[in-house]
Amino acid sequence: MLNIVLFGPPGAGKGTQSEKLIEKYNLTHLSTGDLFRKHLGEGTELGKLAQKYMNEGRLVPDEVVIGMVEEKIKSTPDSKGFIFDGFPRTVTQAEALDVMLEALGMKISGMIALDVPEEVLKERIRERGKTSGRVDDQDETKIATRIKVYLDETLPVAGFYENQGKLTKIYGVGTIDEIFGNITSVIDQYK
Ligand code: ADP
Repeated sequence: MLNIVLFGPPGAGKGTQSEKLIEKYNLTHLSTGDLFRKHLGEGTELGKLAQKYMNEGRLVPDEVVIGMVEEKIKSTPDSKGFIFDGFPRTVTQAEALDVMLEALGMKISGMIALDVPEEVLKERIRERGKTSGRVDDQDETKIATRIKVYLDETLPVAGFYENQGKLTKIYGVGTIDEIFGNITSVIDQYK
């Protein structure tokens, strides 16, 4: 089984690369942002709860995210593996994921961290905001909050996987295919 954490700041290209990776390796895409947006669209209780955090660019509380991820993993028992996109976003989430996977006889193969300069991120998010319809993409304060939350709360997650010898950094500026090629050469070395 191949279980990959695709990591990086908002706008790093995780969603784009995930789409290509799930196709190449036949994996399940587990994007917590997408799952929350689905709940939001369906008007579920979980969606309503998540909405106020998402719209402000703040993190949804850990226990809510962890519960949702566990449910998704357990409801996909025949998966060949997962791409975790936008999760774990805190060290608490990373610890919970390890416990969850171990109980299921699974483990993380590795983390791939996309490295993109802050100015490029902001520009990409603004561009996406023109078509994504996402409130959090269309406001400078919300974009800045998300980058700050990333630096304060999410970046330590890379250290968590580095300590386990599972971190590889990849430069996330270039063509989509170049970056994809660099990612797949890392994944092809996982055992
Ligand atoms: P981006 O990578 O552009 O920030 P995402 O789609 O990954 O977008 O996430 C959108 C929002 O959903 C986040 O700003 C946050 O409010 C919420 N969210 C997504 N994943 C998590 C998570 N693992 N923990 C807490 N909140 C999350």
